[in-house]
Formats: sequence, structure tokens, C-alpha cells
Amino acid sequence: MFGAQMTLDVNTLFMVTIYVEAILGLLLLFAWVQNAQIRAVAWWGSAHILRAGSVVLFGMYGSVSELISIDFANAILFTTYAVLWAGARVFDGRPVNPLYVVAGAVIYLALANVPFIAEARDLRFLLGAGIITTYTWLTAYEFWRGRSEPLVSRWPAIFMLFAHGALFLLRTPIAAFLPWSSTNQVFDSVWLTVLSFEALLFTIAIAFILLAMAKERTELRHKTAAMVDPLTGIANRRAFLHEGAERLKRHGNSFKPTAVLLVDLDHFKSINDRFGHALGDRVLQVFADSAKANLRSHDVVGRLGGEEFAAVLTDASRDKAYALAEKVRAAFADAAMEVDGKQACATVSIGLVAIEESGVDLPTLLAQADQALYTAKARGRNRVEIASLDLVREEKDNVVPVSKQNKAGVAA
Ligand code: GH3
Ligand code: MG
Ligand code: MG
Repeated sequence: MFGAQMTLDVNTLFMVTIYVEAILGLLLLFAWVQNAQIRAVAWWGSAHILRAGSVVLFGMYGSVSELISIDFANAILFTTYAVLWAGARVFDGRPVNPLYVVAGAVIYLALANVPFIAEARDLRFLLGAGIITTYTWLTAYEFWRGRSEPLVSRWPAIFMLFAHGALFLLRTPIAAFLPWSSTNQVFDSVWLTVLSFEALLFTIAIAFILLAMAKERTELRHKTAAMVDPLTGIANRRAFLHEGAERLKRHGNSFKPTAVLLVDLDHFKSINDRFGHALGDRVLQVFADSAKANLRSHDVVGRLGGEEFAAVLTDASRDKAYALAEKVRAAFADAAMEVDGKQACATVSIGLVAIEESGVDLPTLLAQADQALYTAKARGRNRVEIASLDLVREEKDNVVPVSKQNKAGVAA
């Protein structure tokens, strides 16, 4: 894309661009070696190194044939955008077809040597811009398609790629109006300088954003691994206790009625014994799905361990919480009647504790729910039991025995 007329400014820019591209490429390759899991980074690093190579060829204009310094250099340049796009596909786990990666270069080399196009600089320019814009927008599109993965840096990447592509396309009509004769050095050099400068800024910005995306994904995966129960996909014990406590604290000031559920599968040992551990695991998954589907989106659900689950229902009165727990119980009994063709007939018992005031912490509430769960088991299982409020108060007033102590002290 970089044309014929060179001035000192442009040469300097070319040198800087070559160095910057090469360094960024090496930086990305280094990041990939450090964390080989994200292979896309290797594609992106290669794109930058390749682009350094194409700029070297552009810079050799005058000392080598135009076939090398223009046609070949352009073909490599287009391929670098294709490699960037391929990396975006790899990043989101989509396959790469090598034919599409070289398509831009092949089309350009084929068309640019058609005599009619070879003589029309504007047409060649338009062709090149079209190829670059296509790959750049395709890259933006790939990132857009993967947007369900919550990476913040995805959005600047999409925006930058879209803008860069738009600029390439836009400047073609602008270029057509600019005088581009070899006698007009000023316009040539200004134009080339602007183009090269934009390309340089883009390459720096996109390298950093791509690197940020890769890092962000690695962090997200680590965080997810540390917080999510791999079998059921819901919060693990640590995440549940943390998130549940946060919810209770957040509701501390303007307190709304809150409830905690403790769930234990009934006769689960016998399900394992009769149908095998693998089916037992499936039953646990079915429960997690029933809980997610029947509780509200802002409720916190987690697997405390084994066949024990818990939930924090904020902004739920005692009646509302009971209705929700009953809904989960009934839905699970229904869904677990038959699991993978086996008559599992699994059910759950649920202990529920509801509070109207703040200041009770999660471990205390779980202990109360456990009492209610015990009652539910004793009363025949497959049912929801509510902890008596007195129990809760007593526990909360455990600090109060000070007054009792005083009395005792006076009495003594
Ligand atoms: P109850 O109704 O009184 O709760 O009876 P139960 O059989 O469910 O109670 P118990 O605590 O004796 O048994 C729990 C069983 O859960 C024992 C253990 O083998 C099984 N278990 C714990 N974690 C897992 C798991 O991740 N997968 C499977 N398949 N079984 C598990
Ligand atoms: Mg148990
Ligand atoms: Mg059990």
C-alpha cells in the first residue's frame, strides 16, 4: 500500500515501523512461549513479524524490482491482516482455512498484473484497501461473535479494528482527489506520512489490546477454576461462602428479608450403590440445573461439598423463600425421577432459615438451616422445613449472656 514517492520523513517512519513491528512481534511470541495455552498470541506475533518484513520490502523500492518492492510487499502485507484474522478465529476456537488466509494475496497478485489494472494506480489502491478492510472487519467480526465471554478488552479491539478498516476504505476516494503526480512532492509525502503514521499507531495499539485480551482470558480462566465447581458448574464452597457473605453485608444498611437454604440429597448413598457413582454425579448435575432454573437470577447458589448445596435468597420474605424452596424441591423430584434412563427417583430435603433483620452472619444462618434440615430428614425427607425464629434469635443473642452473667454475678 505504501507507494512510490519517498521523502526523508517517510523513510524514517519506515525504519521506525520496521523496528516497532519486529519488537511487538517478538513480544507477542515471547508472551505465547510463557503461556502456550493461548495459541492465538503466536498467530498475532507472527503477523507483526511478517509485517516488519513487508515494510522492509517497501523500503527497498528503487533498489529492487517493483515486483518485489510493490507487488510482493503488498501480498505479504495483506497476508499479515489475514493472519491477524486467523488468530482471532483461533482465539475463539474456530478453525482456520489456509486458503482464506492466502486468498487476499493471491487475488491481489492475479488482478494487479492485469494490464488495465496495473496501469491504474487508483484501482490498485482500491483493490488493496478492499482486501485490508475485509480482513480487518472480519477480525472485528470474529471478536464480536465471541462477545459472550466477558473480556473487557474485546470491545476496544472490535472498535479499533472496525475504525482501522473504515479508514482504509475511506481514504481511497480521498486519494483519488489528491493530486498524485511525481511533481507534487508535498502532497505525496504528507499523504504517505499520514498513512504510515496511522498504520504505526494502529499496530502498536492492536498489539497491546490483543495481549491484554490474552492475559484477561488467562486470568478469567484461573478465577473461574478457583470459584466454580467443575461437576455442576455452580459456585464452589469457597465462592458461595464469599459471595453469600457479601450479599448479606450489602443488604446490611437497608435490610430486606433474607433467607438461607441448606439442601441435602436423600439416600444418596443408596443411589450411588444401586446405579453407580457416575449416575450419582449426573443426579448432582440435575439438582444444580433445577436450582438454577427455579431460583431467581440474583440468588446465590453453591455446592458446599459432596451432595450438599446451599443458597442465599436476598429480598425474600419467609413465605416467598418457602415457596422458592418448595419449587426447587418439587422440580428436582420431577426431573430426577428418571436420569439417563435409570429410575433414580432422587429427592432432596431442604432446611430454610429466614431473617427480617441484619447482623446475622452466614455461618450462623447455615447452622440454623442445618437444624431445620435435620428436622426435614427426621420427618421423612423430600420436604422443606423452616428453622424456628427463636433458634436464630438465641444464636444472635449469644453475645447477650453478658446481661445474664451480670444477673448471675449479682445473685452470686
Ligand atoms: P440422607 O438422606 O440421610 O442424607 O442419606 P445419604 O445417603 O444421602 O447420606 P450420606 O451422607 O450417608 O451419604 C452421602 C453420600 O454421598 C456418600 C458419598 O458416597 C456420596 N457422595 C458424596 N460426594 C459425591 C459425589 O461427588 N458424587 C457422587 N456420585 N457421590 C457423592
Ligand atoms: Mg450429606
Ligand atoms: Mg444425603
